[in-house]
Amino acid sequence: MINRRKFINASAFTSLAALVGKKAWATPEYETVKGKPIVISTWDAGLNANKGAWGILGKNGRALDAVEAGVMVTESEQSCCVGLGANPDREGIVTLDACIMDEFFNCGSVAFLERIKHPVSVARRVMEKTPHVMLVGNGAQQFAIAEGFPLEEQTLSPDAEKAYREWLKKSEYKPVINIENKKQSAFAPSRLSTGEWLPGGQAGNHDTIGMVAMDSQGNLSGSCTTSGMGFKMRGRLGDSPIIGAGLFVDNEVGACTATGQGEDVIRMCGSHTVVEFMRQGFAPEAACKKAIERIIKIKGEKVKDIQVAFLALNKKGQRGSFAIHKGFSYAIKSHDIEMLVASKSWFL
Ligand code: ASP
Repeated sequence: MINRRKFINASAFTSLAALVGKKAWATPEYETVKGKPIVISTWDAGLNANKGAWGILGKNGRALDAVEAGVMVTESEQSCCVGLGANPDREGIVTLDACIMDEFFNCGSVAFLERIKHPVSVARRVMEKTPHVMLVGNGAQQFAIAEGFPLEEQTLSPDAEKAYREWLKKSEYKPVINIENKKQSAFAPSRLSTGEWLPGGQAGNHDTIGMVAMDSQGNLSGSCTTSGMGFKMRGRLGDSPIIGAGLFVDNEVGACTATGQGEDVIRMCGSHTVVEFMRQGFAPEAACKKAIERIIKIKGEKVKDIQVAFLALNKKGQRGSFAIHKGFSYAIKSHDIEMLVASKSWFL
């Protein structure tokens, strides 16, 4: 049985409190930070991705366009875990998964897609131009080509090539908690225009990017894109392209995205579960925490070996996250703020 540990990091809280000479942050949900538009996204790559989204949200554009443009930024960056420069599967081939969902329950998804630079845009075409939700593998690639997406070279980036050669030495598959945090650097606590303080934390390299946004009309959309777990079995899909697991949007309630060990998100329909907790009245952070508690209950002691994090936004523009282990961070951008926030977690 795993005992619940105090989830607010006491030392961080104390030093922050000393810094501002009063309560470090006022509410668990940072409720004073409201207003539209707003975009939030996973990991430190979210900072750049949010800028991409803001190009649309800041001009009163639609959340759907923003979440596509936002994660395209990450798909174009060199990264271990998103886009064609990412780590390959066990056969040395990069396969990509992505999905997108709008305010009308329209959704599209691609999975096991090779040699296409922007899977999220192909997912959007699936949503808008086919009667289906999901296309996979060769079929997804054929559709992308028919839609005019260029077929890129089948090559590994220098970093991915190096990582793959290293992995081949043992050829062991073991998910690495917070793989994105291998190149960590600290980021400082930040003061909001409201006077509140948000905690600092560790910035990592990055991982799957999940993004949810509310536009100036108050409508929600979300997107998620990844190469999945590095050195996965050929054909393996994680949660990221699965609507209800890696992403879910209900425009009456809120939106959620997930990152981490996809198998454990899929088995409890993670993002949908978080949105349902928000429907019951839980604020985003509390809803994410309840979903994490469910994973902890399911996994028992094995939870020590996996990382999962949920990130959610509700219809009021409140946002929050919760992770199994420390190290997860997310990026926010609104008219008031632009920053990285360290997530609370079950284990410190
Ligand atoms: N959720 C992704 C997957 O399981 C990986 C990650 O977010 O780290 O494919």
